[in-house]
Order: sequence, then structure tokens, then C-alpha cells
Amino acid sequence: MEIKCVVCGSDDSERTYLPCIHRGEERYVCVRCLPILIHGGH
Ligand SMILES: [Zn+2]
Repeated sequence: MEIKCVVCGSDDSERTYLPCIHRGEERYVCVRCLPILIHGGH
């Protein structure tokens, strides 16, 4: 499965990604975008 940030679309191998559930699907989010995802918007 491709690891790609669901928020910014980054697939930078030097960035840390965490698994998350986005719209009922298992996706990944980078640590930079994690707060955005938690707060549900910009
Ligand atoms: Zn991101």
C-alpha cells in the first residue's frame, strides 16, 4: 500500500507518517498535517 499523506499529498520518505482513518478508509497522514486532520479543516 502506498504511503501518502491524505492532507497534503506528500510522499516524502524522510517525513514521518501515521496511519489514520479518513472517511472510513485507512490512510496515512504526515506529522505536519496531523493537527489539521484532528481539527477538521484549515
Ligand atoms: Zn501532510
